[in-house]
Amino acid sequence: MSATATRVLVLNSGSSSVKYQLLDMTDAESIGGSAAGRLAVGLVERIGEETSRLVHTPLAAGGEKRETEGPIADHEAALKAVAKELAADGLGLDSPELAAIGHRVVHGGLKFTEPTVIDEAVLTEIERLVPVAPLHNPANITGIRTARALRPDLPQVAVFDTAFHTTMPEYAARYAIDVATADAHRIRRYGFHGTSHAYVSRKTAALLGKAPEEVNVIVLHLGNGASASAVRGGRCVDTSMGLTPLEGLVMGTRSGDIDPAVTFHLKRVAGMDEDEVDTLLNKKSGLIGLCGDNDMREIRRRIDEGDERAQLAFDIYIHRLKKYIGAYSAVLGRVDAVAFTAGVGENAAPVREAAVAGLEEMGMAVDASLNALRSEEPRLISPDYARVAVAVVPTDEELEIAQQTYALVNA
Ligand code: ADP
Repeated sequence: MSATATRVLVLNSGSSSVKYQLLDMTDAESIGGSAAGRLAVGLVERIGEETSRLVHTPLAAGGEKRETEGPIADHEAALKAVAKELAADGLGLDSPELAAIGHRVVHGGLKFTEPTVIDEAVLTEIERLVPVAPLHNPANITGIRTARALRPDLPQVAVFDTAFHTTMPEYAARYAIDVATADAHRIRRYGFHGTSHAYVSRKTAALLGKAPEEVNVIVLHLGNGASASAVRGGRCVDTSMGLTPLEGLVMGTRSGDIDPAVTFHLKRVAGMDEDEVDTLLNKKSGLIGLCGDNDMREIRRRIDEGDERAQLAFDIYIHRLKKYIGAYSAVLGRVDAVAFTAGVGENAAPVREAAVAGLEEMGMAVDASLNALRSEEPRLISPDYARVAVAVVPTDEELEIAQQTYALVNA
């Protein structure tokens, strides 16, 4: 790596999309919360279709968004198209200033507890995890292979969604099922959104003026996918997602916690097969299953118009959230902060208000006027008298991936 190489390209490869950001890590701390240091952002979506779309915003070069539509056959074509857009602004993949590429990898199993420089052995190991992450790891692997083919000489780093949760004690990670069966099939609770939980718990500690080791935080990552985690002194001790991202909170389209006997019932009584049950629980449940909408803005609009189905969906969503706040308060014993993050957590004041309502005895409260303020910065929304800080802490998974990648290649 050359001495002037300070840029990191972050790639998040999904099955039909690639999201990317190019960051300059010279002053990494200043990137959080502001665009400084973020040179370009973009995404390619609908890869493999006729109507693929690339949206590229070169923030460093004035920020004019560029959109192109037209067929992009596969990930290789997508990455080449991204490279071309970057090159047009003098930020090409062949630039000596590029230090590394950081890849988001969803499942790292038990093996990957840290960000890892990718070689063939690492790729083989990520491939071995495909049975436990069939929807995500194959796309991540494709993204990595494509990027490695384009820049074989450049360090490429895998940053795993599961890594932050590998500190969970065995009693939190194991399901209470037959041990031999569980071990034979690697069935346990892995947890996801770890990059976000790590970043937000650390930022929350900073907001309180403390070191991560000094605070216990409940992080509520509420996006379309949603998960909660209990973080003691900077280490995750429990999280709501499990073997897959289906467990836990009510999500946009996923049921979250459910009696597993429901699945037997759907097969035996309703005559559904595995794929149908899978689709029902992952894609047609949660908020969309309950009321037909998964966007919290739309749900709030319907509630304001007196829509009872939307209200019930909201109430179920909040009830589950409250149960997790209660459970994780018990797990942690002492809670210093509850941090809301991701699309819903950062933007939906009514969700934050309702989730914390009635928890005064637990030292938690939300100040209505602080809660109503909009900002991109981490902020407290609890009143001064509250024992537990309630915070809104915008997540930044790309920055976290870039920082971990940069730290590793400079180590
Ligand atoms: P993903 O899990 O896809 O990364 P995000 O973290 O971007 O999701 O969250 C997307 C969700 O955030 C949307 O589905 C919507 O419910 C919610 N959301 C976004 N903006 C707002 C807003 N202004 N008010 C309420 N909810 C919002």
